[in-house]
Amino acid sequence: MNKDKSLVSLLSSASTKLTPHSDSARLDAELLLCHCLKKDRTYLYTWPEHILDAQQVASLDALIERRIDGEPIAYLTGSREFWSAEFNVTSATLIPRPDTEILVEHALLKLADTQGPFIDLGTGAGVIAICVALERADIEVYATDISDAALEVARANATKLGATVNFITSNWFERLEAQKYAVIASNPPYIAAEDPHLRKNGLPYEPINALQSCDNGFADITAIINASSAYLQPNGWLLLEHGHTQAERTRDIMLKQGFGNIETVPDLSGNDRVTFGQFT
Ligand code: GLN
Repeated sequence: MNKDKSLVSLLSSASTKLTPHSDSARLDAELLLCHCLKKDRTYLYTWPEHILDAQQVASLDALIERRIDGEPIAYLTGSREFWSAEFNVTSATLIPRPDTEILVEHALLKLADTQGPFIDLGTGAGVIAICVALERADIEVYATDISDAALEVARANATKLGATVNFITSNWFERLEAQKYAVIASNPPYIAAEDPHLRKNGLPYEPINALQSCDNGFADITAIINASSAYLQPNGWLLLEHGHTQAERTRDIMLKQGFGNIETVPDLSGNDRVTFGQFT
């Protein structure tokens, strides 16, 4: 039992405990300590001799145990950075992935010479819609989710970050008005039920409805592509995130639906991740 309750000592023991369970043990320990102290990472290194009180130590210990059980850091701290902003997350929302920044980047490129409007389908914590709204305050931004609990998180994020987004509870296009969009983007569920990935890397803690899709992961991708032409302005774009082996079939579905200028772009690890097409 470690009796020294100084920051430097707790950081080192937390990091040691997490090492067999996490590839980022040191960072995890820092983030959990910051969360218990309600301070940023600079504080840890400025005040290494700071002594934690009993309650802070107890809450740190509890968080370390949950991390050892495999719960993602973002759910333990309730937040995750994306596009240089801090987003709240809960177990009702997927944890934003850096890969999705590629989707935001390309949505912004497609919006560069239009006045919008833009819609993000299945927004979760709201990251895609909120980032677009922050970068393009001049356009109308909409976002849907089937989950009211997720939309509550997304609304709070929009308010916290000063983004104006119209949130709508809807299963894809189901409850949308007959409006046309310049750009539609979505990071839908796309993992096949039998994919072992679903049972690893903290995914069991994430909302299964936001991860898993029928038809080998293609049910939602297909539903969105098939319905989206009715909601796109002439020359409007649809952008979809998908699994790294799903690009070819996603392009085929877009082609069959009459999309042109179809292209796939890789994520930061070089995997096919986002496919887009233009409805002419
Ligand atoms: N990219 C996520 C993962 O593989 C899945 C996201 C999704 O299904 N939309 O962990």
